[in-house]
Amino acid sequence: MSNQNIKLAKFAGFCYGVKRAVETAKKLKQENPDKNIYILGELIHNTDVINELESLGIKTIHEVPEKGEGICIVRSHGEAPEVFEKIKNAGFELVDLTCPDVKKVQQKAIELAQNDYFVVIVGKPNHPEVMAIKANADLYSANVVVGTTIEELEPFADRIKSHKKVGVVVQTTQMVSSLNLVVSYLNTIAKEVLIHNTICQSTAMRQKEARELASESDLMVVVGSKKSANTTHLAEILKNCTRTIHIENDSELNKDLFENIKNIGITAGASTPQVVIDKVINKIKGGI
Ligand code: SF4
Repeated sequence: MSNQNIKLAKFAGFCYGVKRAVETAKKLKQENPDKNIYILGELIHNTDVINELESLGIKTIHEVPEKGEGICIVRSHGEAPEVFEKIKNAGFELVDLTCPDVKKVQQKAIELAQNDYFVVIVGKPNHPEVMAIKANADLYSANVVVGTTIEELEPFADRIKSHKKVGVVVQTTQMVSSLNLVVSYLNTIAKEVLIHNTICQSTAMRQKEARELASESDLMVVVGSKKSANTTHLAEILKNCTRTIHIENDSELNKDLFENIKNIGITAGASTPQVVIDKVINKIKGGI
């Protein structure tokens, strides 16, 4: 048994958007046992959950086939409007589980585009949520760009300078430091900058609480997929606060990591199932 202090963050694991998506997918299968149920793209970055859904008959697909039948779910990241059309035209019943917080970002980006703002989306260009936000705004303006760094935005500097006003939205799980960096840069080149801080409440609370926990911990353990943007951001933030390790699950734990450590804080990304977190806690409590 370990004699260390182990504290789990209150906002660790599934956020409400992910919870809603997983529970609704399962409920749809229960209510429609004879129908094919598909999810377009991985519902969350967790192989165990994807496998569990497969075993229930809920299949993950990565492209919309030309023809299909049954239900096709749009996951919490959202999709481009043309993908919604494609799903319907293929013959599927569409169930839209885009997180309401993601919908809000899409809506803000659309409004900015409609009101002649040069739209800057703070996020990684290849993140599915960002691609969907951009695709929505692209329908209303040819001036929509994506970036998290000055280097990524510099190529658009002349276009931004020649535009009267710039509007900013941010992908829901980004770090506030990336938003600040982009805004500081835009302030040096744009005439007017309107900022919508669209980092979701769940992410903001998770990051804030994890920082507080880190301030009283000798070691922070971040649990979750290395493919998950929000988990990786959490680890990046905490590395600036205290010693931090990012693990996918309990198999990556070993005794050496905990030598001379008294206070351990544990947190997890929005796509990390409770069972994975519990295994990590139990292993640490058991002295590994
Ligand atoms: S991280 Fe935020 S925006 Fe993304 S699914 Fe969860 S609650 Fe929704």
